[in-house]
Amino acid sequence: MKSLYDFTYDQMGDMALEQGWKKFRAHQIFQWLYRKRAVSIDDMSDLSKDTRETLKQQFSLTPLKLRDKQVASDGTTKYLFALEDGSLIESVLMQFDYGKSICVTSQVGCNMACAFCASGLTKKKRNLTSGEMVAQVLYVQRDLDKQEDRLSHIVVMGTGEPFDNYEHVMNFLSTVNHDRGLGIGARHITISTCGVVPKIYEFAKEHTQYNLAISLHAPNNELRDRLMPVNRAYPLEELMEAIQYYARENNRRLTFEYILLRGVNDQKEHVAQLAKLLKGLNAYVNLIPYNAVDENGFQGVDHAHAMVFYDALMKQGVRCTIRKEHGADIDAACGQLRVKHLKKEQEGSRS
Ligand code: SAH
Repeated sequence: MKSLYDFTYDQMGDMALEQGWKKFRAHQIFQWLYRKRAVSIDDMSDLSKDTRETLKQQFSLTPLKLRDKQVASDGTTKYLFALEDGSLIESVLMQFDYGKSICVTSQVGCNMACAFCASGLTKKKRNLTSGEMVAQVLYVQRDLDKQEDRLSHIVVMGTGEPFDNYEHVMNFLSTVNHDRGLGIGARHITISTCGVVPKIYEFAKEHTQYNLAISLHAPNNELRDRLMPVNRAYPLEELMEAIQYYARENNRRLTFEYILLRGVNDQKEHVAQLAKLLKGLNAYVNLIPYNAVDENGFQGVDHAHAMVFYDALMKQGVRCTIRKEHGADIDAACGQLRVKHLKKEQEGSRS
């Protein structure tokens, strides 16, 4: 069943007109969902009983159920949700000095098959609907409501490739960004892509204020082909051309994500290659500590080595930061909690 969370503000207006209602009713519903955070359609007390019945017959309000929740000592909270079809997804709440951020899942599983990533261990089952992404944010926001706190940032960096589910992701962001929705500022929203080049062009043309992050992880094609199969379809030359285009169209600073993998992409030559690749771009590199995934044998680097890499990059004129680790004492790596539960389920069905 379609969820009321699937509608952007404009789509809600069209829906109201289709039902033969005034547009204002859509405005009311939207406010109930996002301002008053109604948990059922019956909560919407200024709608007539007939209207509520009509809504209930056509739309649901509960696209997800909590299955597990882990809280780390630094406050990082991992939520495992079951969707209506039983699929499992994760969302993560992270605490920063500047506010609270949620990491949202965009697909059930992922087809990008990056060699170092836990999400790639399970193939994509389907795209999430926009409502299923909205519901992740609302669930976590409701938890924060209890402490009179609010989410200030969103990163679309959970399981899945957002640019492989472009339309739903853009609709989702429109809803959470809308000032009648959750009102989370576009500049506080980041979409991370592994480099689906045609969608980078499409995104560039939309001129939104959302931040774009590119998962780079390797500064040459040979290595990137090995780590990220998407590079075989869209090699670095094409990716960088798309990024140059984005940069010309949008006056926004770009982020490049770079996981430091011991002995793989952390050598001097990689510093030089990175510097050459990013020259002249309004960008910075976010060096990411690797969350080891048992299955695939990669290892991270220690902090001292990360600092050496950082210093060398800065010396070459590349701005960079080292990402702080979050939730080190829980299953915080992308897709880890989900994979653990899937394994448990499989073992359960075998025994
Ligand atoms: N598909 C998108 C968004 C999801 S992944 C993308 O590739 O950007 C979000 C980020 O987490 C990516 O930079 C990804 O490479 C990184 N990542 C994946 N597995 C990781 C791990 N085990 N430890 C640290 N970062 C990881």
